[in-house]
Amino acid sequence: MAATSRGTSPVPPDVRPRLTVLSGPSGVGKSTVVAHMRTVHPEVWLSVSATTRKPRPGERNGVHYFFVDDEEFDKLIANGELLEWAEFAGNRYGTPRRAVLDRLEAGEPVLLEIDLQGARLVRQSMPEALLVFLAPPGWDELVRRLTGRGTEAPDVIERRLAAAKVELAAEEEFDTTLVNTSVEDVARELLTLMLQASGLRGSDD
Ligand code: 5GP
Repeated sequence: MAATSRGTSPVPPDVRPRLTVLSGPSGVGKSTVVAHMRTVHPEVWLSVSATTRKPRPGERNGVHYFFVDDEEFDKLIANGELLEWAEFAGNRYGTPRRAVLDRLEAGEPVLLEIDLQGARLVRQSMPEALLVFLAPPGWDELVRRLTGRGTEAPDVIERRLAAAKVELAAEEEFDTTLVNTSVEDVARELLTLMLQASGLRGSDD
């Protein structure tokens, strides 16, 4: 496979776009980074997950998540429709398989924003995926962000902080780390990584 194929589009025949997975502790800012990327680069395709979590204010079905009940989620699992799924802080989240595979087959880079357990499952089923760890600038900052969001009950925050401690230790399992000091910088670096991983652009573009 060609290492790079600078600035070409559509994808050259010898290049298979890779799946890029953005993961990291809850509250580190993954969804903010991805939302920013979406605004600046609407052409980047982001998988929309299914979840049993209730929508937060402003979240729209089919845009931020597909909001489903437990029964529907069970069906998605039973029918093999999820590429991966995980339980996180009392809710289930999963990546619809078909849409991801269709995009990759069409030659488009694909981005998943999922939790650590999901990232590990993707590593197993798609070893060629690029796993990117989003790290907080520090633990205090992570606590501040998780507490400051103000949308979650204290026991939910407790659970998310406990999960975050475990997740921080997983950084070494990832191909690369981005430190979330600035949303704009991280989104730009993530896009560069995605394009490089897919052989679509050289590092100096
Ligand atoms: P939130 O409830 O804050 O939207 O998401 C909670 C966690 O679930 C975040 O770490 C988010 O990245 C993760 N998540 C979202 N979608 C998926 C998914 O499809 N699969 C997995 N494994 N995790 C997901």
